[in-house]
Amino acid sequence: MSAATTGTGIDGALRARLAAHVRDVPDFPKVGVVFKDITPLLADARAFRECVDALAAPWRTQGIDAICAIEARGFIFGAALARALDTGFVPLRKPGKLPATTLGADFELEYGSARLEVHADALAPGARVLIIDDVLATGGTLVAARQLIERLGAGIAGAAVVVELAFLHGRARWPADVPLNALIRY
Ligand code: AMP
Repeated sequence: MSAATTGTGIDGALRARLAAHVRDVPDFPKVGVVFKDITPLLADARAFRECVDALAAPWRTQGIDAICAIEARGFIFGAALARALDTGFVPLRKPGKLPATTLGADFELEYGSARLEVHADALAPGARVLIIDDVLATGGTLVAARQLIERLGAGIAGAAVVVELAFLHGRARWPADVPLNALIRY
């Protein structure tokens, strides 16, 4: 399947350059899943820089207070984005990793079930948060992230991913009135 060429707010040449650095790995982590491997994109200085710049562009004047990023690959883009937007960084982690008091949310993945946790004091009430992950698949991860952030009393300004697997319709689980940006859609 090829990368979509319209509809995500970046130009086609940039999208094609980024997509050229996302590798399909069939049957990982289990048979039937085509894993979108972003490590070639990370390894290429220009592609990584252009990716982070494109993720940041819609948010530069939006008063974002914190990036909430999802373990593990979301951390890579999220930390770079927090620097680009001069915001704080809040990790949404796998169970048992955060040392202080946490809130948690369970959800289903394309290839199994999972749980995300956040420190109970990680966000100030009313903070404007941008959620970051590498790939949007069925949408369960972003929904869990949104629930956790709302339970902390913060507000969701939007979400951004590098890759959206549009054929899995994860976007349908995201509120239509909250921006969800994807640089590359398949
Ligand atoms: P989902 O909750 O189904 O939207 O899944 C999104 C999460 O699972 C993200 O954190 C992705 O890193 C990971 N993920 C799910 N499917 C894939 C895939 N085909 N390739 C790479 N990562 C994936």
